[in-house]
Amino acid sequence: MRRTLVTGVTGQDGTILARRLVAEGHEVHGLVLDADAAEAWATAHELEAVTRHTVDLADPDAVCRVIADVAPAELYHLGGQSSVAASWADPLGTLAVTGLGAAAVFEGAHRLTEAGHPVRVVQASSAEIFGRAEQSPQDETTAIRPVSPYGAAKATAHHLAHVYRERGTFIACAILYNHESTLRPESFVTRKITAGVARIAHAGGGTLALGNLDAQRDWGWAPDYVDALVSATRHTEADDFVVATGQTHTVADFVRVAFAHAGIEDWRSHVTLDERFVRPAEASIQVGDASKARRVLGWAPTLTFEQIVGRMVDHDLAIIG
Ligand code: NAP
Repeated sequence: MRRTLVTGVTGQDGTILARRLVAEGHEVHGLVLDADAAEAWATAHELEAVTRHTVDLADPDAVCRVIADVAPAELYHLGGQSSVAASWADPLGTLAVTGLGAAAVFEGAHRLTEAGHPVRVVQASSAEIFGRAEQSPQDETTAIRPVSPYGAAKATAHHLAHVYRERGTFIACAILYNHESTLRPESFVTRKITAGVARIAHAGGGTLALGNLDAQRDWGWAPDYVDALVSATRHTEADDFVVATGQTHTVADFVRVAFAHAGIEDWRSHVTLDERFVRPAEASIQVGDASKARRVLGWAPTLTFEQIVGRMVDHDLAIIG
């Protein structure tokens, strides 16, 4: 049985990945922050088969210890503080968990490899490392120049992944663009919109307070991005891969499509602008060129933007009523 460790297993991608790995017959171990919350998660998602290890990514000794104890063949590093907005509220905590936490994971994997047990690691890197990118679309060669604490923490991890790769440890980087699913929490704008639309459609009225409607993102479907993480981990060599749809949409597009899917055409009358939701520094237009992932990994997105929004709205309408 292949033994696999997933950090951030209770998150959106971790949950989708754990389902897949359990179905593939892996012995799945998950690194979790809160044992009680993780137990509730395992029950809710019928993932009791996942062995849970309670470790804070900000504790490097504990991270290295769990990697040595589990001795996985594959290690998916998905854990961390994953919100750009939250990183402005706690920049140091974000760096400790998302930046230095990755360093601890790579060091643990390196020690395991040196001890004669090679492990394949994938780092969940982010489009936010490119910040105000000079080139559009961005690819694996685009200069790294983050504009948020989250982006800087992910950039640190990205650079360290390369440092450890040079030392002989298998560390792939999937440079993930935004990807959504029905598992996204409402602290992210996409799910906030689909949940808000469902509430307004159900109640027959109401408003949704949003920040910058002109922000542009390249939104994909999370299960597709989990497929890319798996392919990058199992590829013959550790490499970097941009994982993106190559299409960009504004937040306003997302809102319009979500309301239309719920049968409401006049979306503007249901949206108010709230300065509190505008980010201090907005990354430039994010759109990724995933041609390397397509060519080398045979990866391709399976859903259109409209299908992603539609699935999320349908899910939230079903919950509400
Ligand atoms: P997510 O849902 O926010 O999951 C993050 C996971 O990390 C959760 O299980 C969380 O546990 C755990 N975690 C947070 N702080 C921790 C700590 N101090 N110690 C141990 N675990 C901790 O993220 P996601 O959307 O699945 O994304 C997966 C990865 O891809 C993340 O690294 C994210 O930054 C990256 N990424 C995501 C996107 C995207 O659009 N989703 C885009 C680019 C990159 P709790 O739930 O208990 O806090």
